[in-house]
Amino acid sequence: MSKLPNIGTSIFTLMSKMAVEHNAINLSQGFPNFPIDEKLADIVAQLAKENVHQYLPISGYPPLLLKIAKLVEKSYHRTIQPQTELLVTAGATQAIFTTIQALVNSNDEVILLDPSYDSYEAPVLLCNAQTVRVDLNDDYTPNWERIEKAFSSKTKMIIINNPHNPTGKIWKDSDFLALEKLVEKYPDLMVLSDEVYEHITFEQKHISVHSRPKLCNRSVVVSSFGKSFHVTGWKVGYLVAPEHLMTEIKKVHQFLVFCVNSLSQVAISEYLDLVSVEELGTFYQEKRDYFRKLLQNSRFKLMPCEGTYFQLASYASISDENDVDFCKRLITEHGVAAIPLSVFYADGKDLKLVRFCFAKDNATLEEAARRLCAV
Ligand code: PMP
Ligand code: GLN
Repeated sequence: MSKLPNIGTSIFTLMSKMAVEHNAINLSQGFPNFPIDEKLADIVAQLAKENVHQYLPISGYPPLLLKIAKLVEKSYHRTIQPQTELLVTAGATQAIFTTIQALVNSNDEVILLDPSYDSYEAPVLLCNAQTVRVDLNDDYTPNWERIEKAFSSKTKMIIINNPHNPTGKIWKDSDFLALEKLVEKYPDLMVLSDEVYEHITFEQKHISVHSRPKLCNRSVVVSSFGKSFHVTGWKVGYLVAPEHLMTEIKKVHQFLVFCVNSLSQVAISEYLDLVSVEELGTFYQEKRDYFRKLLQNSRFKLMPCEGTYFQLASYASISDENDVDFCKRLITEHGVAAIPLSVFYADGKDLKLVRFCFAKDNATLEEAARRLCAV
């Protein structure tokens, strides 16, 4: 009997595969199509000949742990203990899976805010626990009244994602104040904060759980170098957790991966001396603005985008097809792949919205926009 009877193949796999089959421009799955920084490529080439190919300590390459701690300190003024509060993971995906396996018991409830990223549900179900899905407001801000109503005596964890995939929304101070109140009221509640787009925000700055002392002791914060250094295929990320949670998380981690691949950990460690994550927001803001300008005469209506490298667009004035069918037709008839938004809702709510990834070189964005303007 299947342990996940209602879970199918991820929409990212489906859409990327269809894009390849139809030779479409792939603005669906979120990954950059431009080369990585030459400095990083040079580091990797050099390291290939050095003694960096064997197992590392399970928490991560010690110099990398120190540099991540420095990065967190510099970005959010939070001091973390690298040996006890930090874990390098095989991407944010493994960080999320491992955290849930380690901390959620059978029959617990975990609150997800819809539309929610697709990696949260399956690990909860594999714990024999349940997700409780709560819709965000129409403008994708959290609806705190609805969230609190969803609480029960079984509620163990809330998973938050800020900056938000797929909507590009970022949280305000008032949202954190509301979350802090909840955490105070429910002393057993844990927060899993997925912040993989932490360095990709635009007009408004990202607020991290790292900068909220009232939350830190109850939260696991997840980051991804895939997003920050344009290396999604490397699958290297990390999580920060207070020691009492980390002890449990490491028990699972050691049997899931033991340690994350050594070459990329050493490469990232060296690269962290040369790179500044502060430039990432400006880099992607230019891409966002360029992509939006290219689409301004299309029939798509563009939604606000405050962070991430995703642009939501409504096709309501183009078609009344459901969003999955529309995305398939966009690939087969127009040669552009996008992600339908309904897959991120428990009830498959269809708002006639699609998500485009603008982490692409300008020539790709231009050609994609030319095709989209003809729709
Ligand atoms: N969380 C969110 C919100 C994402 O968009 C992604 C995709 N990058 C992940 C987690 C997974 O990140 P990684 O590729 O580092 O596993
Ligand atoms: N995070 C990426 C996105 O939202 C997809 C990662 C994956 O394919 N699992 O597009």
